[in-house]
Amino acid sequence: MSQWKTEASSCCTAAMNKADMQKAAGAVCGAAAVAVLYAFIGCPIRFVTGLPCPGCGMTRAALALARLDFAGAFFMHPLIFLTVPVLAAIIIIWLRDKKMQIIVKHKKALSFFFCGNFLAVYAVRMVMYFPDVYPMAFDSNALLIRLIRFFASRM
Ligand SMILES: [Zn+2]
Repeated sequence: MSQWKTEASSCCTAAMNKADMQKAAGAVCGAAAVAVLYAFIGCPIRFVTGLPCPGCGMTRAALALARLDFAGAFFMHPLIFLTVPVLAAIIIIWLRDKKMQIIVKHKKALSFFFCGNFLAVYAVRMVMYFPDVYPMAFDSNALLIRLIRFFASRM
């Protein structure tokens, strides 16, 4: 009886590990797809609408931070200084607890905190820099803008 129980639990553990591996593979594939998309078109929201999104400048901020250009990183996206420690904390938490219970427990508060910060900083950056200053510049060659121009020229 106890032998069956052990077999059953090891079977479930193996199944859970497989599910975790599938989740991880999905996340890696998703991240790779996003990276390829970004490499070709840049920000998809700006590519379509011409408007910068709340995350615009984050990649360049990370690159500036990698060069230890702190002022450049802050200019490209001030929240790089929040995002990097948060990502590091998530990785450390994940390494210690694969279920990330502390994050799951506080996911609502963390989501509000993170989204609130991004939206507040987005609003400030839009007021300060839109539509002329990169990375908050307006893209007049965006898909939607070209479509509007195309149809406007036909009327
Ligand atoms: Zn963007």
